[in-house]
Amino acid sequence: MANGNTGKTSGNTGKAGRRSGGKAGGKTGKIEKYERGTRSYTMSHIRGKDTKIEVLVRSYLFRRGLRFRKNDKRYPGHPDIVLPKYHVIVFVNGCFWHMHESCGKQSMPKSNVEFWNAKLLRNRERDCRQHRQLLADGWRVIDVWECELARKVREERLERLYTQIVDSGEPHIDETNDSRWDALGERAGSQDAIDTSR
Ligand SMILES: [Zn+2]
Repeated sequence: MANGNTGKTSGNTGKAGRRSGGKAGGKTGKIEKYERGTRSYTMSHIRGKDTKIEVLVRSYLFRRGLRFRKNDKRYPGHPDIVLPKYHVIVFVNGCFWHMHESCGKQSMPKSNVEFWNAKLLRNRERDCRQHRQLLADGWRVIDVWECELARKVREERLERLYTQIVDSGEPHIDETNDSRWDALGERAGSQDAIDTSR
């Protein structure tokens, strides 16, 4: 299946924008951050149906014996993983495309800032809507973020995900420090969808 790569790879023009700043020799961290914002970074994070991180999560859950549907078009957002038995829906989110907040991978491209800003904000708004809808329909929704699947932390996150799925006692939403869920909580009104602290 096509992985959603749009084929717009004409950006490989050798444009060395990184070096045009003239502030070389200063903070290397800044340079790295910029590189993440380059087009090649962006293109490598094109949302696809079977991106590497999704495959990672699916194969882990499968190995743990869980069975699920994938990219189920019957639900808002065509969730990556649907586990009807546990009434759980899992989204595996690229940090860039889904604007993971306070996350190092979520740096904005340095060109066409307005375009990207608007686009990503639309993505986020859509995510919020879809989550709200799923919660309203009684699903538990769990977000797994790309940065949580970095090699060093991956195993821990996946184990925790498994627990989150099979322990049906705790309702809803992963404990991301994501302010969008605050907004979501307000809009969700009296439902204690967010409060998992008990
Ligand atoms: Zn992230």
